Amino acid sequence: MFFWRERLEPSGDAYGVEWAITDRSGGSSQGTYAELNLGGHVGDLPQAVETNRHRLAHELGLRLGDLRFMDQQHGCGVAVTPGTRPDVPDFGGDVPPPVDGIVSGRTDEALVVLVADCVPVLLLDRTEGLVAAVHAGRPGMVQGVVPATVARLRELGARDLEAVVGPSVCPRCYEVPGAMRDEAAAVEPTSASVTWMGTPAIDVAAGVVAQLAREGVALRWLPGCTRERDDLFSYRRDGTTGRFAGVVRLLPREEVA
Ligand SMILES: [Zn+2]
Repeated sequence: MFFWRERLEPSGDAYGVEWAITDRSGGSSQGTYAELNLGGHVGDLPQAVETNRHRLAHELGLRLGDLRFMDQQHGCGVAVTPGTRPDVPDFGGDVPPPVDGIVSGRTDEALVVLVADCVPVLLLDRTEGLVAAVHAGRPGMVQGVVPATVARLRELGARDLEAVVGPSVCPRCYEVPGAMRDEAAAVEPTSASVTWMGTPAIDVAAGVVAQLAREGVALRWLPGCTRERDDLFSYRRDGTTGRFAGVVRLLPREEVA
């Protein structure tokens, strides 16, 4: 079920966190969506997706309704979940907001980003008790969805941010037209790359990592190319396929006696 998973217990004044990247194993989806497809609207049976999401929630000690998804747009919008801060506008309701960054200060829910080649980014401030999940594909990297989410976190009080950058399609496997590479490189020079064939490519994750580094966010970049790994979904490899997830849940601070 998990490509990577880590749980940091609360300590002193610091909140804890449970964050993870899922893989394809341990789900009920069939065929091209097998097994643990967590994405709706990709053609899989809704009942199978719901069963898979229920399993993920259960693994995190939550219920299905405690998972906060986004209606991902390949843009740079950021939403804050209801109840994060009393004086901060949130997206309201139970409908996933049409954004690519989502922020929470609650310990009773988990944020989910769905990907199949795009870059999943998870953010955490253990002192302020804030987490975020970000969906950064090529357009999101170019438009700056990660810096936008960092800015939103800082508006809410975040100071000591750390990030996990999950697996995505590597530049060797991500051929693009030369003009598209140039457009991305104009924003993030480190994103310009080449494929296994030497043709123009974009390293979206390297661009995202450069953006996090520029913001002073401590980061870990998990190795792994989605297109080259059979245990992850890849849109570039398979076209019609499922989505795996980055997920982050804040854990409450210890009770002070
Ligand atoms: Zn690759």
